[in-house]
Amino acid sequence: MLTALLGGTFDPIHYGHLRPAISLANEVGLKQIRLLPNHIPPHKPQPEANIEQRLAMLSLAIEDLPLFLLDVSEILSEASTRPSYTVETLQAWRCKNGSQKPLAFIMGQDSLLGLPTWHKWQTLLDYCHLLICRRPGYTEHTNNIELQQWIDMHQTNDIKDLHNSPNGYIYLAQTPLEDISATEIRQNINNVARCKNLLPPKVWRYIHTQGLYGTKKK
Ligand code: ATP
Repeated sequence: MLTALLGGTFDPIHYGHLRPAISLANEVGLKQIRLLPNHIPPHKPQPEANIEQRLAMLSLAIEDLPLFLLDVSEILSEASTRPSYTVETLQAWRCKNGSQKPLAFIMGQDSLLGLPTWHKWQTLLDYCHLLICRRPGYTEHTNNIELQQWIDMHQTNDIKDLHNSPNGYIYLAQTPLEDISATEIRQNINNVARCKNLLPPKVWRYIHTQGLYGTKKK
């Protein structure tokens, strides 16, 4: 079975995470997707919600979606007092599960284009495949020649490659475009008409009961 991890800050989780992931699962044949919240995101400002609140929102979001499982390994890892580097999470997964099981790491197109800022990014494919979801505003090609060559060298359109090899391929999926970001939600949370439908109702209610992102605590 191809194990799939979807890493992120999830501050908060929203339909831009869930809908492309569900579509990707159908496209590629994923039985399960493990949502992997990071403790200290290396590439961006620190989360506004604390880790308990981000975990609570993730749990609420996937309560009725058996495709998803919450994976707290990055939160619990020894490295959790410093930035969670994806490559170290993948190495830890390989130590535990061996080198032969197919493993995929899911990310949005924005993350793929930002990979050169990631710790040891060129070694990621030594541990997993990368499954890339489309994201509005981000093109399939990049002007970064090194990154583009790396993508071209490893890209496959054949889903069988993902299931039959443990690691090493990049797959650009045909997932739906969801124009949603956690930043937009945090910044506009009091604009109900704009934000309410961008995330699951249970998560929306939780944000309000906790007074998160500048909402008034109920
Ligand atoms: P922020 O706005 O705070 O930067 P975000 O909305 O990008 O957050 P993250 O938790 O950082 O959410 O994202 C986790 C992963 O999900 C990343 O790989 C990101 O590219 C992907 N992702 C997030 N939103 C979308 C979206 N709307 N469409 C496709 N992929 C997405």
